Amino acid sequence: MNNASKTASLRDLPKLDGLLASEPFAALIASAGRHLVAEETRAALELLRTDLREGGHVFQSELTEQALAALVEKRIAALLEPIQCRVINATGVILHTSLGRAPLPASAVKAAMRESTEYSCLELDRASGKRSDRDKLVNALLTRITGAEAATVVNNNAAATMIILNTLAEGKEVPCSRAHMVEIGGSYRMPDVMRKSGCQLVEIGTTNKTKASDYENAISENTGMLLKVHTSNYAIVGFVHEAALEELVEIGRRRNVPVVYDLGAGSIIDLKQYGITREPSVPELVKTGADLVCFSGDKLFGGPQAGLIVGRKDLVERVKKNAMFRMMRCDKVTLSLLEHTLKLYLEPEKVLESVPTLRAIAREADELRRSARGLATRLKKHGIEAEVQDSTSQIGGGSTPGEELPTTVLVIRKLGGSPDAAAKRLRLGTPSVFCRIENDALVFDPRTLLPGQDAELVAAISSAANAKT
Ligand SMILES: *Cc1c(COP(=O)(O)O)cnc(C)c1O
Repeated sequence: MNNASKTASLRDLPKLDGLLASEPFAALIASAGRHLVAEETRAALELLRTDLREGGHVFQSELTEQALAALVEKRIAALLEPIQCRVINATGVILHTSLGRAPLPASAVKAAMRESTEYSCLELDRASGKRSDRDKLVNALLTRITGAEAATVVNNNAAATMIILNTLAEGKEVPCSRAHMVEIGGSYRMPDVMRKSGCQLVEIGTTNKTKASDYENAISENTGMLLKVHTSNYAIVGFVHEAALEELVEIGRRRNVPVVYDLGAGSIIDLKQYGITREPSVPELVKTGADLVCFSGDKLFGGPQAGLIVGRKDLVERVKKNAMFRMMRCDKVTLSLLEHTLKLYLEPEKVLESVPTLRAIAREADELRRSARGLATRLKKHGIEAEVQDSTSQIGGGSTPGEELPTTVLVIRKLGGSPDAAAKRLRLGTPSVFCRIENDALVFDPRTLLPGQDAELVAAISSAANAKT
């Protein structure tokens, strides 16, 4: 009988110090560091000890220096495995919330990393040497780009809505259409947000029709603001009517009540030319006269997670003085990313190329068809049959429901095993690839591929095909 099949007893368990000094552990210590290796070895030995005490079956071969080094190496690899791994998004959903929404502009990330690894003049005015606002530059750029009088920024748009409601209408009434009682996802439901912000929701109109007069009739002495919410993630069609922002602005001015628009996705540029008609642009809404507009930084704007608030100066000042503002303020990395993303908008001819979200929206049908065909040709060289088909991409991220962009996709019917199994191999590969499954086939949309990812995608699909399970 050799060691491999011999059952071990407690006496066979090696000592920690001896193991750490052994040759198989030397390489491990060199790469992962002595402290981490010692901790993980101690934990592994403890588990084995418990196992042996409780009469578990452990072979002597599992207790050699080599075997234990391999075990500890595995534990450390599991610990250090990236949780947020890099993903190739071939789903065609441009703002995929589960895949991190907007991929950031590379130049903005580069600049932000440089600024945040060193000290920066985050809250100092260089000329006077005095304390200044941390969001000063971002706000100057935001007002310039949106045409608003003033601007500020918090951690996300949910926070923006919350702080606006609390600032303008705590203890007061907020008339809001029954069509705008939205749930964005998770725990963000408009009626709950209103309650938490200390406002009293006054439901007006019906699910499908709310008239301007419904708002007007709901105004009392105790009204804090009128709220319009963009129905970002659903559309009501048919016998419908929604009071226009212009009408609310007129009522608000006449009755001296601020009008706020929670826009959600919020595009700076007009997307109508790309067939997206349900997303009014921020400058358009500011021009219409909304007193405050808030929107996300990581949706159509294409930057970091943030809640951008633009509008009337006196109201923005009040928001900034709210005690909640400190709890919602952005960190220096976010502010830097925002600053450098905003600067890209200063060059409208280039912004469609430099902001990945906009690039994906603006990609043309012809170019996508060529891209899909090119991928199919390359896959064929790897022995993989892929068809090219007309299809549609989605904006996603809870924006523009029902509005789809034409695209050409790559359809693979066979990649070894079931489509679910193949999709799983692709997700678990390096790089991780996410695609769609439709009609029992794997579907890859080139629209959401970033420059330079074509070759990686071909290699990933090919290795998923070879790793049949
Ligand atoms: C997405 C969205 C929000 C939440 O924005 P986050 O930036 O994700 O916090 C709020 N309101 C509307 C209408 C939205 O579409």
